[in-house]
Amino acid sequence: MGIFNHTCAHHLSEIINKKPFQISYFSTISSAHKIRELSNLCSKGYLKQAFETFKFDIWMNPNLFSHLIHGCISTKCILLAKQLHALTITSGCFRDKFVTNHLMNMYGKLGDLNSMLVLYNVMPKTNVMSSNILINGYVGNGDLESAHKVFDEMPERNVATWNAMVNGMMQFEENEEGLRFFSGMQREGFFPDEFALGSVLRGCAGLRALLCGRQVHGYTVKSGYEVSSIVGSALANMYMRCKSLEEGGRVIREMPVQNVVSFNTLIAGMAQNMCPEGALHHYNLMKKTGLQPDRITFVSVLSSCSELATLGQGQQIHSEVIKRGDTLVEGVVSSLISMYSKCGCLEDSIKAFTKRKDEDIVLWTSMIAAYGFHGKGEQVIELFDQMERQGLKPNEVTFLTLLYACSHCGLKDKGLEFLDLMVSKYGLSPGVEHYTCIVDLLGRSGCLSKAEEMIRTMPVKADPVIWKVLLSACKMHKNADMAMRISQEVMKLGALDAASYVLLANIQASAKRWEEVSTMRKAMKDLRVKKEPGVSWFEFRNKVYQFTMGAKTHPRWKEIDSYVKELMSEIKKCGYQPDTDSVLQDMGQDEKEESLAQHSEKLAIAFALMISPPDFPIRIMKNLRICSDCHVAIKYIAKIKEREIVVRDASRFHHFKDGTCSCGDFW
Ligand code: ZN
Ligand code: ZN
Repeated sequence: MGIFNHTCAHHLSEIINKKPFQISYFSTISSAHKIRELSNLCSKGYLKQAFETFKFDIWMNPNLFSHLIHGCISTKCILLAKQLHALTITSGCFRDKFVTNHLMNMYGKLGDLNSMLVLYNVMPKTNVMSSNILINGYVGNGDLESAHKVFDEMPERNVATWNAMVNGMMQFEENEEGLRFFSGMQREGFFPDEFALGSVLRGCAGLRALLCGRQVHGYTVKSGYEVSSIVGSALANMYMRCKSLEEGGRVIREMPVQNVVSFNTLIAGMAQNMCPEGALHHYNLMKKTGLQPDRITFVSVLSSCSELATLGQGQQIHSEVIKRGDTLVEGVVSSLISMYSKCGCLEDSIKAFTKRKDEDIVLWTSMIAAYGFHGKGEQVIELFDQMERQGLKPNEVTFLTLLYACSHCGLKDKGLEFLDLMVSKYGLSPGVEHYTCIVDLLGRSGCLSKAEEMIRTMPVKADPVIWKVLLSACKMHKNADMAMRISQEVMKLGALDAASYVLLANIQASAKRWEEVSTMRKAMKDLRVKKEPGVSWFEFRNKVYQFTMGAKTHPRWKEIDSYVKELMSEIKKCGYQPDTDSVLQDMGQDEKEESLAQHSEKLAIAFALMISPPDFPIRIMKNLRICSDCHVAIKYIAKIKEREIVVRDASRFHHFKDGTCSCGDFW
């Protein structure tokens, strides 16, 4: 294809210098046909040919220059632009206002703002259109200040002026400024077009301004733009980003024409907002409407399967991926690796990883995460070594994954070593998340004061999360005094939330400081703090059984209750001691034990033992971290019942077998 390159530019300059122009004659071809052919040649990049064939017509009708100029914009060649500019001068077409406007637009698109401004300044009389072109040129190059200046100096503006300002501000995430322009526009009686509305909605999404977004939604309904697919997708995206999933879903379902983009917006929004069921539901809906999922869809739904640990559905999507031929697309492979890992099938993660086609750091990082999730510390380190040997350069995310894996495998020294390597060998600067992993690692290993020192001396600002991580380490090691001190730090950052109060109350309870516990409980009540209820579930013969603490509404509650009691007394005989210190309420020993026995994971395991055959591997999912008492109890249960029990909690897998857990009591 004849791209107009520098050689062509040279030819063009030859033509310019060849005066007088030889006039060709085209009387046999109609002018509409000629214009079509001219624009066709220009859009394909055959500028030289276009010019030579049609120069006579161009001279007669300066507006035809616009085709050449558009062609020049797509070649992105500034030298050629200058020559076209020179050509308009020698031909005398320069005096034509439209030609000048097109030239300004060209310079703006090619980023030569100076030449654009020079043209503007020599125009004998500027009009709204030329000022708009100037604004668009500035906006397109991110010079919002100059755009603003032109806007302020304009004696009159039209709807395009306002649209350009709204689009520009939103494009560079000057969201508040953009919204101000949007309301200014309405005040002056101008109506935004669908692109400006799309921008405004993106701005609302960026600001998480749900109320404002709803107002814009109201406007789109009134103005009839609701049916536009641009506005519809932007609306759905706004609702999803503002966490109003229901409204977002409604917008998509009510759109006259649904497409892959709109469904992807919805599915990704649900997956990212902890609504994996909704994501999978809309994935099925999408397929029912006859739309073909693409790689973006696959990434979202696979992450939802990971979240829910629904292996069956994940495998179905995997076969869909193979059918669509997307198996080797990097993002999809990473999602497959992490889906299989989170569904407990590390072997399949490894399979997906070994079948990769390209060497990419994202894939290696996903595989490191997969090993980390299963507590395979050795493999994590081995994989990292292998990666370095292959000359792949780890990035910040790789290191975060490594540190996270170390903190969940109890590899304290290795973790500190990686942090050091990150800075000394790869020149990366650790962020607060990296330090959080290290503090977690030190805290869990019992090096509480070292962890505190790390926070106080690290080069980045501490956030509430890192303090809270230390706070839970204080709980783990029953250091009530330090916990009080750390909670002061969390409070200073205004971030003492439900979980922290529960944690503090727990710490005080285990130190038997009942007065403090009741103060905490009162504070929690005042704040209407609610602890997220623990939920455990498992799949058996295509049915999901779900349990919450003290699931008295379960149809077989009586059976379950007596079986749990039996189970607890059995393991007590083998040495299990209920961790009654962690029970929040000040109550008698028996009551405390009873309350511990009703934790959702114990109920789920008991029920799984009741209904499943002896060779059925018990796999339990829990929405929160497994509590220490349940962890101990399950080790005993696995031993005396001679069963393998796998529990996936909020942070990792626990494989219980023969009285031990794969996490080595580190989670
Ligand atoms: Zn528990
Ligand atoms: Zn464990």
